[in-house]
Amino acid sequence: MKKDTSIFQNLKEENRNRIYNTIREKKCISGPALIYELKLSRPTVTQNINELLEEGLICENGTIGNTGGRRARGYSISEMFQIAAGLDITRNHITVLLVNLNGEIIYEKRIRYPFSITDEYKKKLGELISEAMEEKAIHEEQMLGVGIAVPGLVTKDYRTIFYGKILDFEGMTAEEFGKYIPFPCRLYNDADAGGYAEISQNSELKDAFYISLSNNIGGSILIDHKVYHGEGQRSGEVGHMTLIPNGRECYCGKRGCFETYCNASILSDVCDGNLQDFFQKLEQGDRECMELWRDYLYYLSIAVNNVRMLFDCKVILGGYVGAYMSDYMHQIRTLARERNTFETNADFLQPCQVKREALALGSALPFIHEFWEKV
Ligand SMILES: [Zn+2]
Repeated sequence: MKKDTSIFQNLKEENRNRIYNTIREKKCISGPALIYELKLSRPTVTQNINELLEEGLICENGTIGNTGGRRARGYSISEMFQIAAGLDITRNHITVLLVNLNGEIIYEKRIRYPFSITDEYKKKLGELISEAMEEKAIHEEQMLGVGIAVPGLVTKDYRTIFYGKILDFEGMTAEEFGKYIPFPCRLYNDADAGGYAEISQNSELKDAFYISLSNNIGGSILIDHKVYHGEGQRSGEVGHMTLIPNGRECYCGKRGCFETYCNASILSDVCDGNLQDFFQKLEQGDRECMELWRDYLYYLSIAVNNVRMLFDCKVILGGYVGAYMSDYMHQIRTLARERNTFETNADFLQPCQVKREALALGSALPFIHEFWEKV
C-alpha cells in the first residue's frame, strides 16, 4: 500500500517538474499548449499551474494566440525567484556575476584585485557578493549559492583545493573563501567551469573537449552535458601533456608541457599583458606578433590533434585566447587538418561561444540546473 502511494507521489512530482521545465524551455506557453505538449490531462495541468502560480514559481505573462475565439493566458517562469552567483578567482582579478533561473547573466563585474590568502581578500569576496545583490535588489532567501572558479584542482565534494601551485593556495577550502559569504559556497576547477558554461549555452553540443587557453591552460571533458572528472578529479589536464620532450620549463616542475607553449601570457606579454592589444597589432601586421602567432598556432594544432585522436569529439577553443579565435579558425583548422590521420577537414574544431566570463558563469550554473531538477 505504501509503495503505491510513493509511486503516485513520484508521478505527481514528475508531472510538476515537467510542467515547470516546459514553461521554462518555451519561455511563454499557454495551458492548452502545455496539455498538448505534455499529453497530460487538463485537471493535472490546471492544478499544477495554480500551485506554481501560488508559490510564485511562475507568473502570467500576457495572452497568446489571435486565431479568433478566446485568447489563452500565457505563463512564464519567475526568473528571479531564485538566483545563483559565480566568482572567478585569478592571480590579479576577481569576477562576480549573478545568474537568474533562465541561466542568464543579470549582473557582471570584474575588478583588479590581486589574490592573497588574507582576511582582507575574503572580506572583499563577501563585499562583492553583497554589492551585487544590493544592486539587483536580491533578498538573501533568493540566493541558491555561490560557485567559485579557481585555477587549481578541487576535491569531489567541491570543498578543498588539493593542487594549487598557480596561486600557491593548496589546502584552501570553500569555507575559507566564503568566510564572509552567508550562502553555500562551492569550488570548481576553472577549466571545468568554462567547459560547463560552454556546453550549457550551446544547445548543439552534447559531448566535447574544452581547451581553456587563458594565462594557464586547462581542459575539460564533457560527456552528455556533464563534466567527466576522472578517478582523482584530474581529468582533462591537457596543460601538462608533454608537447615537446625536454622542452620549456613548466611551473609544475616538468619540461615541455603544452602549458608553456600556448598559455595566453605568451601572447599578451609582448603587449604589457594586454591580449586585446596583441590581436590588434597582429591585425595591423606587426612582425613580432605575427611570428609569435604562427608558433602559437603550430603548437596548439599539435595539442588539438592529440585531443581529437583521443576523444573523436568536438574540440572547443576557450579561455582568453579562445574568445579571439573566431577570426583565425581557418588558420588553425588548416594546421589541425594537416596533422589529422583520418579526416580531410577540421570542422570538429570550434571557437567558444561564451566569450565573456565563462568561468564565473560555469560556477553559478550548476546551482540553477539543480534547481530545475528538483522543482
Ligand atoms: Zn607542467
